[in-house]
Amino acid sequence: MSNERKRRGLMLILSSPSAAGKTTLARLLLAEYKDMDLSISVTTRKARGKEVDGEDYHFVSAETFEEMAGRGEFLEYAKVLGSDFYGTPKAPVEAALTAGRDVLFDIDWQGAQQLKQSAASDLVKVFILPPSMEELERRLRGRGVDSEQVMQDRMARAKAEISHWGEYHYVIVNEDIENSMADLRAILAAERRLRKRQPWLGDFVRGLVGPF
Ligand code: 5GP
Repeated sequence: MSNERKRRGLMLILSSPSAAGKTTLARLLLAEYKDMDLSISVTTRKARGKEVDGEDYHFVSAETFEEMAGRGEFLEYAKVLGSDFYGTPKAPVEAALTAGRDVLFDIDWQGAQQLKQSAASDLVKVFILPPSMEELERRLRGRGVDSEQVMQDRMARAKAEISHWGEYHYVIVNEDIENSMADLRAILAAERRLRKRQPWLGDFVRGLVGPF
């Protein structure tokens, strides 16, 4: 893209109950759109399993998190599940948007709501629904052996997440990953053409027809 026609990037929020296909869609989007970055959150929780610092999260101490919050370095932050803090760092998002790059957020309804307060006009919020609760349960069970209690907790959490579908601009029922990707491509194509995301247009039109 020529510098003269640099659009403003957008913040694409993908939310869904776990196992509805969000992570797969996020991975496919990032592989396909070279002008899209994944927002990497900062957290005070410890890294699990194969998680890599700087890729899955930026893992920091509670003191560092507090200092960052005090310096206003987060677009939003929250205490999640009662103990650990999670936050979205502001600087990489702002840098990406002004450079005409989109930023993808893989966050739940709570994070999405908080982002709305700090960055409403840059947001494009997409909710991914499972085709049925039976299918969601099947996909959740497919992830490994969990006790019946754990499964019931996960299903209850999924229902709670789904109850926020009405807060999103777009909703995709993920029957099939390819169709859902086609929907996401269409959403991105349209959102990138919004007039407010093409600040170069005023000069361009003046160049076409002269001053009105
Ligand atoms: P986990 O510890 O399992 O990776 O994530 C726990 C929860 O933290 C998830 O519900 C996830 O959506 C939320 N989370 C992750 N990053 C952020 C963030 O930057 N801000 C907020 N508000 N929540 C986050």
